[in-house]
Amino acid sequence: MALVTGANRGIGLEIARQLVRRGYRVVVGSRDSQSGEKAATALAGVGEVVAQALDVTEPASVERAVSATLERFGRVDALVNNAGMLIDEGMRASTIALDNVQRTLDANLLGAWRMSQAVLPAMRKQRYGRIVNVSSGMGMLSALAESSGSWPAYRLSKTALNALTILLASELSGENILVNATSPGWVRTRMGGAGAARSVEEGADTPVWLAMLPDDGPRGGSFEDRKPIDW
Ligand code: NDP
Repeated sequence: MALVTGANRGIGLEIARQLVRRGYRVVVGSRDSQSGEKAATALAGVGEVVAQALDVTEPASVERAVSATLERFGRVDALVNNAGMLIDEGMRASTIALDNVQRTLDANLLGAWRMSQAVLPAMRKQRYGRIVNVSSGMGMLSALAESSGSWPAYRLSKTALNALTILLASELSGENILVNATSPGWVRTRMGGAGAARSVEEGADTPVWLAMLPDDGPRGGSFEDRKPIDW
């Protein structure tokens, strides 16, 4: 079974849909219960899907969501850390209010970290786990150098998420728990905008692939279109 954060809309909803189509039972994590229920209902014809209230910035919410998932399914095979926000449009590193940076890191970095810590005991016990961190090309180190300081909080949160991916993968190197990051490309969602190059189906493909990796699959990597990319 798979737990997807921020699955009520956008890329997360499509990741949930593709995982259900591949036979996974899926928990649709959503900080807004109503829109989570709506998403789960829309996917219910495809397979077993349940909505779960989940705000990744709230430790108690993370704990409740993972406990409820384990109570219902007894395991968590895949965690897709998809939830993310971008609230620094038009800002620059030299002037951005640091509470914006703090809020962004809390959702995009610490959210994925909280979720990973919450599911790892179960993954260790069952000796199987896949953690997928949905990052961004905007967080690549080479992209930072060309950024003119734009989207500083968002970029930094994704660079840090990449680093967290490497740290966790290194710690789990002897276990059957594969942790990887992925950049979905520029995708038509509320965040990406209507002019983006890719559909949600294209954006969800690599995260879904990483969530279903075989035991000898890659670990501690970053992938776009199922191919390794630079950090
Ligand atoms: P959307 O803005 O469409 O969706 C973001 C999702 O994250 C929503 O479900 C939102 O919930 C949820 N979310 C935000 N904050 C929290 C929180 N604190 N707790 C739980 N859920 C939360 O974005 P996308 O679908 O485009 O983005 C999905 C992921 O892909 C993000 O991590 C993003 O950074 C990444 N990405 C997207 C790109 C693109 O071009 N679209 C490019 C590169 C990366 P709610 O509905 O309640 O707001």
